[in-house]
Amino acid sequence: MKKVILLSCIIFFPINSFGQEKTQPNIILMIGDGMGLTQITAGMYSNGNKTALEDFTFIGLSKTHSHNSLVTDSAASGTAMASGVKTMNGVIGINIKNQKVKSILEISKEKGYQTGLIATSSIVHATPASFYANVLSRKEYQKIAFQMSESDLDYFIGGGQKHFTKRNDKRNLLQEMEDFDIVSSLSRFNKSQAPKVGLFTNRDEPTRISDGIRIPLKDAVSSVLNQLDKDRKPFFMMVEGSQIDWGGHANDMSYVISEFNDFNDAIQTVLDFTKDHPNTLVIVTADHETGGFSIPKGKIKNFRVEGAFSTIGHTATMVPVFTKGPSAEIFSGIYDNTSIFKKMLKVVNQ
Ligand code: MG
Ligand code: ZN
Repeated sequence: MKKVILLSCIIFFPINSFGQEKTQPNIILMIGDGMGLTQITAGMYSNGNKTALEDFTFIGLSKTHSHNSLVTDSAASGTAMASGVKTMNGVIGINIKNQKVKSILEISKEKGYQTGLIATSSIVHATPASFYANVLSRKEYQKIAFQMSESDLDYFIGGGQKHFTKRNDKRNLLQEMEDFDIVSSLSRFNKSQAPKVGLFTNRDEPTRISDGIRIPLKDAVSSVLNQLDKDRKPFFMMVEGSQIDWGGHANDMSYVISEFNDFNDAIQTVLDFTKDHPNTLVIVTADHETGGFSIPKGKIKNFRVEGAFSTIGHTATMVPVFTKGPSAEIFSGIYDNTSIFKKMLKVVNQ
């Protein structure tokens, strides 16, 4: 009998004693928009045959089709990953029965998590919006901005300030976001002591990284991680390499590669963070492939890649899912993109 009591003490001690602390893992979901296997391959070879993705432990494949289309868009796929439902292309956070669905960001917030979003597009673009908005059209940017102003978000970095300040309803949402310290530079973001901090990198969409004026994604990631790390609570953070997709739409291989490399550097920064913070699950995936990109030829010398595109749109090819950290193993296999939500939910609910 004594043994039984003793044993149960051992088993329950960590849960009872540290229940309010970081027992749930941090979750960092990194989405390369339009980042199929060929985008990764081209980026890897052009980077001297190296990618941060080689350090991941488990790999899965995600089926990206939406409810109404074999070829998804970022809204339907973002909603699938954020909330676990297949919906119509163009729809964010609403299922096919016209009901609003809760996102993993909102659910994790209810479970005591802090939350962060970073994108290299505007913060109201379809992928980041999937984590806080519910709209029938991804193009309703002003409505999405309003929903973000009322959302559970604690930290954000992205473009699109004009959707908050130059509005048809004449409201200035930034003034209404009283809990937030909205800053104008990364150094101010780093110094802010406010409980919620946001940085608009651009009035509209950010430029491409090769223009040399955009904040490298890895720096934005470091800044948000530093803020999240100040608190003892676990966190959910979504990081999007938004413009890998835009390079694909433009059938511009060097655009794809430079955006992939920016994203790859951010992945490395996240992996470095997990060395001191092992209770962090990292998931890297894509919402779909863009461009029907392939590498029909190249040169082995210097790993020179010569790419080809088969469309200016998206394709239905499965996309990889790389995971590392606690519960990483549950992401191996082949599954629908909705399972990415379901698997993250398991981690949050544990
Ligand atoms: Mg996107
Ligand atoms: Zn696209």
